[in-house]
Amino acid sequence: MTSDPSCGPLRLSIDTSALTANWQRLNELSGAAKAGAAVKADGYGLGIAAIAPALWTAGCRDFFAAHWSEAAVLANLIPASAIAVLHGPLTKQDAAYARSAGIRPVINSLHQARLWLACGGGLCDLMIDTGINRLGLPLAHLGDPLVHELQIDVLHSHLASADEDVPQNEQQRLAWDQARGQISHRRASLANSAGIALGSAYHGDLTRPGLALYGGIPCAALSPHIRPVVHPEAAIMQVRELGEGDSVGYNATFTASHQMRVGVVSLGYADGYLRCWSGKGTMRSGGAILPVLGRVSMDMTVIDLTTAPYLTEGDWVSVDYALPEAAAKTGLSQYELLTGLGHRFAR
Ligand SMILES: *Cc1c(COP(=O)(O)O)cnc(C)c1O
Repeated sequence: MTSDPSCGPLRLSIDTSALTANWQRLNELSGAAKAGAAVKADGYGLGIAAIAPALWTAGCRDFFAAHWSEAAVLANLIPASAIAVLHGPLTKQDAAYARSAGIRPVINSLHQARLWLACGGGLCDLMIDTGINRLGLPLAHLGDPLVHELQIDVLHSHLASADEDVPQNEQQRLAWDQARGQISHRRASLANSAGIALGSAYHGDLTRPGLALYGGIPCAALSPHIRPVVHPEAAIMQVRELGEGDSVGYNATFTASHQMRVGVVSLGYADGYLRCWSGKGTMRSGGAILPVLGRVSMDMTVIDLTTAPYLTEGDWVSVDYALPEAAAKTGLSQYELLTGLGHRFAR
């Protein structure tokens, strides 16, 4: 008998009911606007196959990918007409693919507008840059005749600091508002997760939450509304007894001061559990807290089993990964904590 190697010693449990509850809450908080979903980077690392159909069933009808390769995967899960690609077409092939698949490109520049129109055009989105100076059509190009040839569904802009109370938010909102009067379009969209909390003036017709869908909390105002979605779990591969003076892991950064029982867990920095968790992270079994000892290695981490003496080889522990707390502890952003979760997790 052969065993299934896909059922490895790492799993990411995804609470899809929390995911859909978060979407519903963000949709309510968006007021008269409808909430869409940013699902780029494999649904922020959670695994698009579980995320997209659940959001569709909950009522979400606008999905934003970044790459065309992501859109192609999404199109097998939900209707192509619900998908837009934020990076827009970079080549003729991208534009031709968008047209044949029925996926909306988000046009970000005159170059992209030209590519899209040259291959026949059709319904698209337009991203205007109101101050982030990242991707997006500069305001100076709004009057270009090419822009007025576009058949625009969603007129987007993107806030640089929605998670902060800064004057730039209002400046960007005003520029976006002004563009709404200059360019014909069906729907307007400005807010990411944190932008939803800035109030109805920021909502337009459609909001684009990402992080908060997946349990991230970008600003205190969203904290009461958002439930955690992601729960990493790992198996204990070996249990060992340390004596006083024994050290653990690379560079011996932890030394036992007394005899203790420790477990070697199959989770490491190759899985996104980065070295910044060394000596800081905790795992859990029931109510017992199991601190990380010494350095995190590529494929394994050692934990203290003192408070859970019943744990043995083959048992599973859950990894403490509450996003706001984890970000504060490690200095990583909540976005990095999610998107870094590696391919070895069974999802
Ligand atoms: C990623 C992204 C979002 C989602 O942002 P969150 O902060 O994760 O809610 C919205 N809009 C655009 C253009 C994005 O690139």
